[in-house]
Amino acid sequence: MKDKLKAIDDRIKEAAVSCGRDPETVTLVAVSKTMSAEKVRQAIDAGVAVLGENYIQEAREKVAELAVYQVSWHFIGHLQSNKSKYAVKLFDLIHTVDSVKLAGTLDKEAGKINKVQDILVQVNTGMEASKFGVSPDGATDLVRAVSGFKNLHVRGLMTIPPLYNDPENVAPYFRTLRELRDSIEEERIPNVSMDGLSMGMTGDFEVAIKEGATIVRVGTAIFGERY
Ligand SMILES: *Cc1c(COP(=O)(O)O)cnc(C)c1O
Repeated sequence: MKDKLKAIDDRIKEAAVSCGRDPETVTLVAVSKTMSAEKVRQAIDAGVAVLGENYIQEAREKVAELAVYQVSWHFIGHLQSNKSKYAVKLFDLIHTVDSVKLAGTLDKEAGKINKVQDILVQVNTGMEASKFGVSPDGATDLVRAVSGFKNLHVRGLMTIPPLYNDPENVAPYFRTLRELRDSIEEERIPNVSMDGLSMGMTGDFEVAIKEGATIVRVGTAIFGERY
């Protein structure tokens, strides 16, 4: 696990430096969905500081089991409004807010525990019917709407691009997300920070870094194949 993690850290550094970026501006989220708490513990021992989970029930069990560790948990799966109560308790950053309705329930639940919940707005850059996320055209309006919730803080955007065999084919989707981020930033919407760009997974995180990713979500390259 330590070797794998070191290799990924090196690749992140190399990708960042090769395009003139400071490697410190890229955060690695180790995506631990379907992996046992024991495997996650090994990853933490190897130096992982941020974990990404997709399923609320699974995350509840793992977070409880690993509560002694000072790590950060991010939610990267599709979130149903009725799970908002658990999401605000468990996660430092929720990557997948894609509707005003979901934002509204998260705001209400965050308020109940006196928390300002950091969130990213998920954008469906490939406009795929099979994927969640607001359309690029609707992203600015959604950010504006979310900015009105006082218990939420927008930190940026997230995307899952269409799958291609050649990672270079995803570059345009990453670029779309970055340009969208830049244009929303120019709006200077109060209560909105646009520094976060969550994009890039095992197959394409280097491309994502070159396109400006500040958060990469890597599962398979750290934990091996999921079964
Ligand atoms: C599973 C998952 C990942 C990690 O994918 P790998 O290809 O295993 O690195 C990243 N982001 C999201 C949203 C995921 O669901």
